[in-house]
Amino acid sequence: MHPPKAIVIGSGFGGLAAAVRLSCKGYRVEIFEKLDAPGGRAYVHRQDGFTFDAGPTIITAPQLLEELWTLCGRRFADDITLKPMEPFYRLRFDDGSWFDYSGDEATMRREIARFNADDLPGYERFVVAADQACRLGFEELGGMPFNSLSDLLAAIPSMLRMRAWESLHTLVARHISDPKLRVVFSFHPLLIGGNPFAVTRVYSLINTLERRWGVHWAMGGTGALVRGLVGLLEARGVPLRCNAPVTRIEVSNGRATGVQLANGERHEADVVVSNGDAAWTYRHLIDAQHRRHWTDPKIERGKYSMSLFVWYFGTNRRYEDVPHHMIMLGPRYRELLDDIFKHHHLADDFSLYLHRPSASDPTVAPTDCDAFYVLAPVPNLESGTDWPENAERYRQRIQRHLEATVLPGLGAHIVTSKLMTPQDFKDRLWSFRGAAFGLEPLLLQSAWFRPHNRNEDIDGLYMVGAGTHPGAGVPGVLMSAKAMASVVPDVRH
Ligand SMILES: Cc1cc2nc3c(=O)[nH]c(=O)nc-3n(C[C@H](O)[C@H](O)[C@H](O)COP(=O)(O)OP(=O)(O)OC[C@H]3O[C@@H](n4cnc5c(N)ncnc54)[C@H](O)[C@@H]3O)c2cc1C
Repeated sequence: MHPPKAIVIGSGFGGLAAAVRLSCKGYRVEIFEKLDAPGGRAYVHRQDGFTFDAGPTIITAPQLLEELWTLCGRRFADDITLKPMEPFYRLRFDDGSWFDYSGDEATMRREIARFNADDLPGYERFVVAADQACRLGFEELGGMPFNSLSDLLAAIPSMLRMRAWESLHTLVARHISDPKLRVVFSFHPLLIGGNPFAVTRVYSLINTLERRWGVHWAMGGTGALVRGLVGLLEARGVPLRCNAPVTRIEVSNGRATGVQLANGERHEADVVVSNGDAAWTYRHLIDAQHRRHWTDPKIERGKYSMSLFVWYFGTNRRYEDVPHHMIMLGPRYRELLDDIFKHHHLADDFSLYLHRPSASDPTVAPTDCDAFYVLAPVPNLESGTDWPENAERYRQRIQRHLEATVLPGLGAHIVTSKLMTPQDFKDRLWSFRGAAFGLEPLLLQSAWFRPHNRNEDIDGLYMVGAGTHPGAGVPGVLMSAKAMASVVPDVRH
């Protein structure tokens, strides 16, 4: 008897991790990927001798990756070299002052004291709250599938005890008074598409994840992790077909029976796992008649995360003063976030994340050159912005800002350049409303309220990735695959 067949749609971190786990459970697995190479948001652009990781650059909780290697009987460290970052990153304020965010406690205390020594006791209280959030949100609930209401009910007492209805910013503001330090300790959810003024304080767990397990760079770039996962799958004989968009999940008698590709090919499966954007999967790949929970109106009513404008560029000189990771805050914080998340308005000002991997890794740029990307959080396509029309103007504004602040003379040194806009998130990655991180991480769009890892209506259909539980970010999507694998039936031998 053949083992049962599982098809995985998409090869982002969630899809690759799902394929590893299903293969290790005994399924015959095949992956279909729309793009010409794996990785999804972690796709790698190679251009004019430069290597640009398209998306994730900050690797936290590496044990989640190591677990996949261990499952395959391999050692993570044989394939991947992780370089710990110290400091984790620099936050630069609009007035030119900066805070070096560190994993070293003494350095952190010194940095806090430079801004406001009176906030040190409050910082300690914040750390206690973050550790409590990590225990609940990461260790207890993160990898657990929220498939039934009883899962949610079981979690409620702990959620109430830690006042999960409060926003992260409210928690930070209770303990810390300095306006800049409030930014330092509340900006983290932006890394995974959340508004610090709206996400639950459970997201303070990111502070603990970073402190406890560090912030890392994968040598060779995040693409090395993608290649490593693909290597695990190759060794297990799992085929990955690129340039193979799935246009339909076939359902018969309430059960997923396979997929149809854009070229008309049909492939049968016992289990289908979608790593495509959850809202897009439901809206465009599954006939409405099969969806009682995720109906078209419910998908339309959902609140979607912000999007990103990303400019990848290489320079023919090095900027040694610029650290590997730098967050460059603009003149407004809450007001800018309101524009992005609430008003869906593309503002004139911006906050930026500037990535300079060549600070740590000589392999990503030619000799004496620097590879960069800079990203600006922007509203998703609900803003109505015509990106093809506006992208170059917006890029020029960012370039002028970088020239005036941390990259003097930049214009004369650019030797390669590439853009990614919210329109690309929609057209390239099939992301609903061009959101960069799927459904916005709000309390009422989390856990049981988020698309379940086992579909609510269709047997044999499973979901992994940023739009499902627990949510976006590399650790989040790796945990979604773990939660999924825990509810997929075991293979009988
Ligand atoms: C610019 C940027 C920076 C980021 N930085 C960080 C960071 O530093 N640290 C961090 O932890 N997280 C970061 N994130 C978030 C993180 O990258 C994502 O949450 C995570 O990688 C998403 O993984 P995923 O499994 O949901 O799949 P995705 O990466 O979204 O991949 C899904 C894949 O499915 C494919 N697909 C979709 N539909 C179909 C279909 N119908 N048929 C076939 N294939 C299909 C897509 O082409 C894609 O390859 C960042 C994100 C972005 C965009």
